[in-house]
Amino acid sequence: MFQKIYDSLLTLAYPQICHVCSESVETSAGGVVCERCWNSARVFCGDETLCAKCSAFLQAKPAAHETFCHQCDEHFYDAARAVGFYEKALAASVLYLKREPFVAKTLKNLFISAFENAPFADANIVVPVPLSKKRLLERGFNQAEVLAGILSAEFGLEIDAQSLARKIHTPVHRAAMDRRARELTVENAFEVARPKLIKNKKILLVDDVFTSGATASYCAKALKKKGAEKVYVLTLARAR
Ligand SMILES: [Zn+2]
Ligand SMILES: [Zn+2]
Repeated sequence: MFQKIYDSLLTLAYPQICHVCSESVETSAGGVVCERCWNSARVFCGDETLCAKCSAFLQAKPAAHETFCHQCDEHFYDAARAVGFYEKALAASVLYLKREPFVAKTLKNLFISAFENAPFADANIVVPVPLSKKRLLERGFNQAEVLAGILSAEFGLEIDAQSLARKIHTPVHRAAMDRRARELTVENAFEVARPKLIKNKKILLVDDVFTSGATASYCAKALKKKGAEKVYVLTLARAR
């Protein structure tokens, strides 16, 4: 009831335009995306075949056995999962999260479900992918930490936002940057400041977007080098 009143007041006071289709957003649950666009968002539901390690899309039908894309064979994390593809509703929400440290209800529930459906039940600590000091100062918050907070609150997982640090400032990715160039900018960018806290831990690494997997892989490499037992990755969205 109060939610309904709040939503209608919100619509009256601040008509929110859907960042995908430009129609008006009727409820605060959708954030910057209208209900129709959320309903048509490509969210992974288990009806498709994704790479069992990195979740790259392989085919529209479920396969009988675990299948791998093999592009991710060299990646250092154990498994990566995402809510869905980086497009439309998810892309608009990811971009918004870079500006405001807030995740609306619809997306929050999708993120929680993605964790529940992922084979990450033995994860015992959540580590947000760190920003460089420079980027953190510019933005004022780390969006990965906001996402880690959701899982911590829901599942009582401990957050460790201190152990992993980004020592090199990486420029914002340009469309023209190819995969190898992107990888080079994050290689050796991460270090573990407090190895004792992550030793023998099964870590859930959290970030907003999974693009080539290079960031997640190099974070996992740094964490495993200092004794982490497993590194899982959960993101809001992944590139196709
Ligand atoms: Zn819309
Ligand atoms: Zn893969």
